[in-house]
Amino acid sequence: MNTIIEKISGDINSDQPVLQKAAQIICDGGLVAFPTETVYGLGGDAFDAQAAGRIYAAKGRPSDNPLIVHIANIGDLDTLSDKVPDMAYRLADMFWPGPLTMIIPKNSKVPSTVTGGLDTVAVRLPSHPAARRLIELSGTYIAAPSANLSGRPSPTKASHVIEDLFGRIDMIIDGGDIEIGLESTIVDLTGDVPVILRPGFVTQEALKKAVGNVLLDPALMTGVSGDVRPKAPGMKYRHYAPRAELIVIEGRPSAVSERLRSMAAEAVLQGRKVGVMVSEELSHGFDNAEVICLGRRNNEEEIAKHLFDALRQFDEMQVDIIFAEAFSQEGIGQAVMNRMLKAAGHRIIKV
Ligand code: AMP
Ligand code: MG
Repeated sequence: MNTIIEKISGDINSDQPVLQKAAQIICDGGLVAFPTETVYGLGGDAFDAQAAGRIYAAKGRPSDNPLIVHIANIGDLDTLSDKVPDMAYRLADMFWPGPLTMIIPKNSKVPSTVTGGLDTVAVRLPSHPAARRLIELSGTYIAAPSANLSGRPSPTKASHVIEDLFGRIDMIIDGGDIEIGLESTIVDLTGDVPVILRPGFVTQEALKKAVGNVLLDPALMTGVSGDVRPKAPGMKYRHYAPRAELIVIEGRPSAVSERLRSMAAEAVLQGRKVGVMVSEELSHGFDNAEVICLGRRNNEEEIAKHLFDALRQFDEMQVDIIFAEAFSQEGIGQAVMNRMLKAAGHRIIKV
């Protein structure tokens, strides 16, 4: 398939012709990768059951793993659901447009291919101006998961999308580097108390402050074990994973630093190509290892923004093993560590 790549500048007026072209592709049943504030999305018409099938095929994604429907106005909730919980309007007023996805009951207008056969639908109103304009211009809603091949880290740069999906979709809109770099927070509103199914930039603390009690899906930080199964189908798959084995070291910074150095040195001695993923504070003094610094330890936003790109860079460098520093799980750290531990298959060493 011929994939068109078009750059946009961020100025919504001069970007209009590109967005118009993308909207037309979506109306015609095609697929377009576009920037949002969280990660790049791979979009198709949310009311076209076949477009959803094309998204699953382009990503190599299991079709029981539902897509997020992107809307342009809060009122669009009522088009997708006949039973919008009051909580959804409250959260929408406070956090939309923005990186929060809500799970609500779906109505018959939403194709079951989009929801992976579930009777609920995931909905988000993004804040990225080009993403919103694209939805408006398409005159429909846009079903979009992240624009990566299934199993690979989510794309935070246009080059990541090109690497994974060039030749598999109709168009890629290059909007430069993504602002947040982690997928949206997913909150399930179908029960009495909201439950976070996937942590993200909108933190559990912020949600609690806004609406009171908010729980965390117990499967999130532990991985799938025994009866504990994540409620978001996507969270059960191996995800965000670099090709090399990733081991996370957790503890006081001085102890982590010491263990990282000894484990890296030992692996180098064994003739392995070693990657190290750390804060700026711990990034110095590694010999013969590929060191990627994610940012200063207390700058969670910077760390979040660089994580997926770092995992992709290690793939490119073809390292055999990666040692990573664990970060605090406060605030956005909860989302950062959720992604890192999933990428590590929950291999964590406490020192
Ligand atoms: P992605 O945007 O690629 O990260 O994928 C969307 C995420 O939303 C996946 O983890 C899905 O499992 C999750 N999701 C979408 N729809 C639902 C739903 N109705 N119930 C629970 N999780 C959902
Ligand atoms: Mg994804």
